[in-house]
Amino acid sequence: MHFECRLLVAFASILSLANACPMAFDRDLSHNSTNRQAVGDSLHLWPNGIVPYVIDPKYDATSKAIILDGIAEFGKYTCIRFVPRTTQSDYIIFTEHSSGLCWTGKWGERQMEVGRLGGVQYVSLIVAEGCLRKFNVMHELMHSLGFYHEQQRDDRDKYIRVFYDNIVEEQHEVSYGIRYTSTGAANNLGTPYDYNSIMHYHAYSYPKDQSRPVMAALDGCSRFGNEKQFSKVDVLRINILYKCPAPYKAPPPKVTYDDVEVEDNNQYCPSWAAAGECTNNPGYMNENCKKSCGIGSSSDCPSCKDDHEYCPSWAAAGYCSSNPTYLPYMYTNCRKSCEIC
Ligand SMILES: [Zn+2]
Repeated sequence: MHFECRLLVAFASILSLANACPMAFDRDLSHNSTNRQAVGDSLHLWPNGIVPYVIDPKYDATSKAIILDGIAEFGKYTCIRFVPRTTQSDYIIFTEHSSGLCWTGKWGERQMEVGRLGGVQYVSLIVAEGCLRKFNVMHELMHSLGFYHEQQRDDRDKYIRVFYDNIVEEQHEVSYGIRYTSTGAANNLGTPYDYNSIMHYHAYSYPKDQSRPVMAALDGCSRFGNEKQFSKVDVLRINILYKCPAPYKAPPPKVTYDDVEVEDNNQYCPSWAAAGECTNNPGYMNENCKKSCGIGSSSDCPSCKDDHEYCPSWAAAGYCSSNPTYLPYMYTNCRKSCEIC
């Protein structure tokens, strides 16, 4: 088929050009409008993407600088603007709240809600608990904008296995409970499940037994638990949710996990991996056979692939970055070429 025609068909359901070429719609894109509608129904957003904030004067200069660094990341990639509060009635305050560690909301760590909650809401970052990291600021502010944890997406069971038996009970619902798009969860938005999201917990978040993971990738090798930077999909979602004007700002660089030690801890790892154990028994294998399972280099995972032969050409032509209309499709179906994995 002619290149332009293939391209057109690929984006047909976004562009409403279904009759232009005789080819079926992409199945993932058919959910787009449903997700957007659900978000609009029940999630409170910040009007015009403007979020008034206050920084508790008790923070020292170092902590304030980290908070402002985290805020600045949103300005690099999205149309969200955090502005010092003057008289606005709805706003966030960065503070060391007495009720918990690092959390967002109005009611404490175990009652997390997302988006604009009305009146004052907290981003609680306790210095002594290690919350004053740029990553924490960015993660908590994404909650404030309307996002839950990635492992709470309603399609997460297709991508990760959650070991509830090893998760402390009070986190079962608040951090691992599924949030359905029909109840206002914003993480889907027609975008792919994103192991690299800054909203995805790592494999040892709130374990009962610290020697065992709480989650494992079902593909047996994708890394997750990015605590450094926005993923490309994070940025896309913010831009979609807040209807940032096109063209979007440039996407962030590819997420890497170069701080991970990639070793096998057992001599039988290569043979187990060859027998499919990375997929069948990810809980053990992801931790003890990292080298054989390809952990630490998600881009080498078999699941990190393009689903369309023209992905490299489209990526080279700028479709992974230039036109927001195409990004949900490209990030879903051209994951390798767009460096999503
Ligand atoms: Zn969180």
